[in-house]
Amino acid sequence: MSSDPEGSTAAPNFIRDIIDRDLKAGKYERIITRFPPEPNGYLHIGHAKSICLNFGIAEDYNGYCNLRFDDTNPEKEDQEYIDAIREDVRWLGYQWHSNPSASDYFDQLYDYAVQLIRKGLAFVDTQSPEQIREQRGTLTEPGRNSPYRDRSIEENLDLFERMKAGEFADGEHCLRARIDMASPNINLRDPVIYRIRHATHHATGDKWCIYPMYDFTHCLSDAIEGITHSLCTLEFEDHRPLYDWFLDQLETPCHPQQIEFARLQLEYTLTSKRKLNQLVREGIVDGWDDPRMPTLSGMRRRGFTPESIRHFSDVIGVTKKDSTIQMGVLENSLRDDLNERAERRMAVLDPLKVTIINYPEDREEIFEGKNHPQKPEFGTREIPFSRELYIERDDFMEDAPRKFFRLAPGREVRLRFAYYITCTKVIKNDAGEVIELLCEYDPESRGGSTPDGRKVKGTIHWVSARHARRATVRVYDRLFNIKDPGRAKDVHDALNPDSLRTYDNARIEPAIPAERQPLAFQFERLGYFIADTHSTQEQPIFNRTMSLRDSWAKIEKQQA
Ligand code: ATP
Ligand code: MG
Repeated sequence: MSSDPEGSTAAPNFIRDIIDRDLKAGKYERIITRFPPEPNGYLHIGHAKSICLNFGIAEDYNGYCNLRFDDTNPEKEDQEYIDAIREDVRWLGYQWHSNPSASDYFDQLYDYAVQLIRKGLAFVDTQSPEQIREQRGTLTEPGRNSPYRDRSIEENLDLFERMKAGEFADGEHCLRARIDMASPNINLRDPVIYRIRHATHHATGDKWCIYPMYDFTHCLSDAIEGITHSLCTLEFEDHRPLYDWFLDQLETPCHPQQIEFARLQLEYTLTSKRKLNQLVREGIVDGWDDPRMPTLSGMRRRGFTPESIRHFSDVIGVTKKDSTIQMGVLENSLRDDLNERAERRMAVLDPLKVTIINYPEDREEIFEGKNHPQKPEFGTREIPFSRELYIERDDFMEDAPRKFFRLAPGREVRLRFAYYITCTKVIKNDAGEVIELLCEYDPESRGGSTPDGRKVKGTIHWVSARHARRATVRVYDRLFNIKDPGRAKDVHDALNPDSLRTYDNARIEPAIPAERQPLAFQFERLGYFIADTHSTQEQPIFNRTMSLRDSWAKIEKQQA
């Protein structure tokens, strides 16, 4: 994937088929799409599917894609979200053609609403929202007409203008399309298209106190921008007749084609801004960009690469049928990418001191470590070695079974890049805990083999005590331990209690920079790690991006 600079590995899908057909029929000269988030939260992995689809299609067909903020709910929207969304889209590697907001069109939308009134296709209703809801009917019962449905055009124009002028309180009136209260499609039963909201809008301030509804806004914004294919998720399928109705009734520059696809559902993941917001608000996670969050900002902080997310999105494809994707698909996409591209380093999360008693105290050696075992072009780094080292505490066992191929009393292991060592003595504190191992090294084993051809089964990682830097390492795991946390009555019941383990006393080799790098490192035998955004020289902090292998597959097998 990383070797493909175009990033276009997209397989055919039903949307591309439609576009191919349209192009062949000469319907459009240029394909224009849009990604239309509401700036009421941070983007998540579900949005990434839509971003990759919309921007990917635009790229592949030499068209363009707009990033449009769907900002018609002044109370919920915020500049913070706008900035974050822009950053996320850019990070994924996409560039929008233009970046309008629905609020840019408020004047035009108002004029379109007036056009509808003039045609007798919209009326001001003076009932309460509750009354309107009561008259809506059900799937099996038709709705009932509003008593205000037959107001004269003049009266409607006058009232609508006064709504705009701020003469009425919230909820006192609203504007409704005049379609058909008996339609089998509830969305066509005289939907509300404007409501009164005396609220300050992040972009238009106090200019407006009436705001257009989503269905009215969306199709017209698409038409104003000349969108050819308006791609949205399946829950909008029933809204398509309304989308088309507005465009059929009004004189718009074009009539975009709405096409629906299945939303991304991912195991062990919540993809709802509202529910993610709850986790942030309650302090269950460390903000929207907590490395366990399925937000793009969280995944970025965790060390996900944009390439792996784009690849994931290609692999899962686009269909009309709902399905849930296994977490392993996303995780493996990242593992595959990092396995190719991440440089190798050594770090010890839970250090146990090793003293090599036959190695001179004042001596120091430098080993050449390959930065990638299969890629000589990645070069090498210097790894200092000295008499006192740290190894991983669980690479030693005092009463080791025969099959334990790491360090144990009397047993020999290979230190990666360095020498063979044999454990000769175990030192404990008063509480009986092992605090240090005394070992002897074989000077002839430098580089990993001996003249007598002696075999050792285990190779372990290490750092030189004198040279290593202390760091905090956060080992992240899935935030939820059930497959469908969205179904849990209480989100707290779905949380994985072990989603974060912190190692405060970890040691990293000197060739690991403490500052944030663009790409994670592989800490040999441990996984992929990246300096956190808050990591500093004084206090290095590393996040585990991903384990080397999928440990959940085994857990799930046991549960099955
Ligand atoms: P949420 O429920 O998280 O707020 P949303 O659909 O309301 O999601 P929007 O900001 O309105 O969020 O979404 C912007 C675009 O992203 C829409 O076109 C929407 O269809 C798409 N999108 C949102 N979630 C997903 C998902 N899980 N899979 C695919 N596309 C999605
Ligand atoms: Mg929404």
